[in-house]
Amino acid sequence: MSRPFRPALRPGEGHTRGQRPSSRPLRQAWNLVNLSTVLGLVAAAVLRCPLTPAPHGLVQARNYPLAFPDGAAFTVGNVVFTRPGLRMTPELWRHESGHATQYAVCLGLPFLPLYFLAVGWSLWRCGDTASANLFERTAGLALGGYRERAPIRAWHGRRLDRRPAGRHDDGPPGPGGTLA
Ligand SMILES: [Zn+2]
Repeated sequence: MSRPFRPALRPGEGHTRGQRPSSRPLRQAWNLVNLSTVLGLVAAAVLRCPLTPAPHGLVQARNYPLAFPDGAAFTVGNVVFTRPGLRMTPELWRHESGHATQYAVCLGLPFLPLYFLAVGWSLWRCGDTASANLFERTAGLALGGYRERAPIRAWHGRRLDRRPAGRHDDGPPGPGGTLA
């Protein structure tokens, strides 16, 4: 990480100086109350991921060690887990901030099953986890480093043969997290 070390946060802290829209404290508080940030903080403690303040009122849990989920970064409540060596960009922070807002809108932990349903839908519809995933699209595919793929199936299930140039990309997934 390129960010300088700062002391670990207590729950509910972590604003970015000089740029805090009024919704951020509300989102921070709500994601604590709905337990999604609590889950993130407990997971960070169990996995011994150091916590540092992050933009958008988020908390970064660095050095996430597990293989699942496969994204380079992912968000649980207001806690953004990042893998070792990932350099977070302003775009990625905006993307992950969008997921934190989604947790708030989903009343916290219901985000998780809803997200996995969206992953399943996207895999069926487009063949990847993000292109038709409502949560990733809302957080911003490009911000998350995802390349949008055209649908491979119509709504009624028929497989599409059309392959518009430049829309099918079998490259590696972007850094946007699977939960993130
Ligand atoms: Zn994402």
